[in-house]
Amino acid sequence: MSHGLTLAVSKGRILVDLLPLLAGMGIEPAEDPETSRSLIIPARGGALQLVIVRAADVPTYVEYGAADLGVVGKDVLLEYPGEGLYEPLDLGIARCRLVVAGPAGGVECAAGRLRIATKYVRTTRRYFAEKGDQVEVIRLYGSMELAPLVGLADRIVDLVDTGNTLRANGLAVLETIAAISARLIVNKAAMKMKNLEVKRMLAAFARAAGQGPQLSSEGGAP
Ligand code: AMP
Repeated sequence: MSHGLTLAVSKGRILVDLLPLLAGMGIEPAEDPETSRSLIIPARGGALQLVIVRAADVPTYVEYGAADLGVVGKDVLLEYPGEGLYEPLDLGIARCRLVVAGPAGGVECAAGRLRIATKYVRTTRRYFAEKGDQVEVIRLYGSMELAPLVGLADRIVDLVDTGNTLRANGLAVLETIAAISARLIVNKAAMKMKNLEVKRMLAAFARAAGQGPQLSSEGGAP
């Protein structure tokens, strides 16, 4: 039995926003991806199957063709080193900002280079290099907000939505690096070999997201 196209997606905020979009396209997963332990979930009708992967792995599955399509945050794409992807559509879901944050009182750091804690190491290095600022970047995997509170770093670079998490930890946004939302990405070979199916799926996503695809936009990193 054909499952049509394969779409890589991560559980959490993106999937929560994506499911209503898929429903609007008449695509209904056979099991609830949030509660199911299955990692491959076909959708009723056979046009699509979902593969459930970690957010940071979505571009890898798509670049190597294990998935034809993926839905992934722009923050992950900015950090992804590969270039074998098309990024045709901003789905406008899971919106937030990637920001530099620090103590709300504006406490200045000790003399020398600013220390910045983040899981967005490449993006942070690029951002400060473009500004001509020399900084030391410390890689963390979570709870970034803790770093300035315990003297590990002067600033953090992290995603912010409502700002509640920052406020609860006495931090404030100092600079915005990028507006973030979930993007549809497409494997380059699938775009050629399954052109009709992929184009149809892109058009359906674009209609559901309330916009037209911008097929000229390409690449994993800016
Ligand atoms: P908030 O307190 O609403 O500012 O949310 C901040 C927390 O939610 C941070 O830990 C972020 O990593 C996470 N977050 C915010 N927006 C997103 C998003 N669109 N996708 C994934 N995580 C997010």
